[in-house]
Amino acid sequence: MSEHHHGHDHHDHDHHHDNHFTDMEARVKALETVLTEKGLIDPAAIDAIVETYETKIGPRNGARVVAKAWNDAEFADWLKRDATAAIASLGYTGRQGEHMRAVFNTTDTHNLVVCTLCSCYPWSVLGLPPVWYKAPPYRSRAVIDPRGVLAEFGLTLSEDTRIRVWDSTAELRYLVVPERPAGTDGLDEEQLADLVTRDAMIGTGLALAPEALR
Ligand code: FE
Repeated sequence: MSEHHHGHDHHDHDHHHDNHFTDMEARVKALETVLTEKGLIDPAAIDAIVETYETKIGPRNGARVVAKAWNDAEFADWLKRDATAAIASLGYTGRQGEHMRAVFNTTDTHNLVVCTLCSCYPWSVLGLPPVWYKAPPYRSRAVIDPRGVLAEFGLTLSEDTRIRVWDSTAELRYLVVPERPAGTDGLDEEQLADLVTRDAMIGTGLALAPEALR
């Protein structure tokens, strides 16, 4: 069973849709082209830097939020009630004042985040969105066939597990709090954060088992 939460307005989005470049994107693209043609930069190096922001530096904030929630029941409760404030207490705030909501996976419910209309993403905790998050196939299929999409990410959930799909907006963004893996009792928050991948916080993955880091 899947459930699609909408109930928000997308009309006042201030960013781009689909393949239309904003002025800023067009300028960045132009600069990259000129610098590449002059042999001043290597596009592969730029891709590597962006990739690092997508998968490592950006999501580390969110990973710390999740690790703290796993480790501190009071913080977890605060995160459930008022994610914007709980996350801000760790110093992670959005520049545009968007609100955050944390959705907690349980043994019978898995949460998945998408922005069906464009690419709203909780960048204050996850950094830059991956290319697939912004791509039309993910945006449409996450709602229609979340189980199939998860399978393509290598995540096969039990048929009994309910999947809830959360549609981000410019005003409200979601952070998935994955379940704490077994065998992590002795770990401190920094070690726990190592287990929390970007995909686990979007819902297209689960937290890593501690064995994965050895
Ligand atoms: Fe959006």
